[in-house]
Amino acid sequence: MRLKNIPGAKEHVDSSVYLIKNPSSYKGKFKEIFGNNNPIHIEIGMGKGNFIYNMAKELPNINFIGIEKYDSVMVKGIEKQEENPLSNLRFIKMDATYINEVFDHEVDVIYLNFSDPWPKNRHENRRLSSRVFLERYDLLFRKNKEIIMKTDNRKLFEFSIMSFNNYGYNIDEISLDLYNDNIDFNIPTEYEMKFVSKGNPIYRIKVSKEV
Ligand code: SAM
Repeated sequence: MRLKNIPGAKEHVDSSVYLIKNPSSYKGKFKEIFGNNNPIHIEIGMGKGNFIYNMAKELPNINFIGIEKYDSVMVKGIEKQEENPLSNLRFIKMDATYINEVFDHEVDVIYLNFSDPWPKNRHENRRLSSRVFLERYDLLFRKNKEIIMKTDNRKLFEFSIMSFNNYGYNIDEISLDLYNDNIDFNIPTEYEMKFVSKGNPIYRIKVSKEV
């Protein structure tokens, strides 16, 4: 989803007060950024930020951090936040491969929305639901672990179910067609809106592991 040539995107993102600069300096103390002890939910690969912004708006007693590696998309989320700031929303620009340098036992929920599928077998470890990433996530969670994933990609969904299961996660909820199941609360992402308008089914899974 890399958008090329967005003039000024990097400068805009880097100078925003809502970007957490030097995130590793907050390792273990992210609650200081929000000034409260509310749960912290993160989205890895937030893209343009529709999901994380509207989640933060709907759920003010949860602190949200959107993580994204590209300025060209992240700048859209930053713009939303600058237009109507929410006190429970911040952003980190980074490649999630290095997520353990940033968080230490302080995250309550991880959202993975329409993650890059990396279809080639030799790229399996790059998938955000692969075992390598699940091992990294272990060190992020404050206590109980919870991951909520949405995708339109059936192969990635099948891979992820196996990966979560093999790693000892329990499946709490699963939908093979989110928009035709009776769900009472769902905030769409940009990719989701695009796929729904084409009539594609959206898969969703919520998994957890109690400590
Ligand atoms: N979640 C958004 C949505 O549903 O509209 C964006 C989906 S897009 C297919 C995947 C996004 O994840 C891209 O913006 C990409 O840059 C980001 N991403 C992929 N791997 C990442 C990683 N390792 N660290 C941070 N961001 C990543």
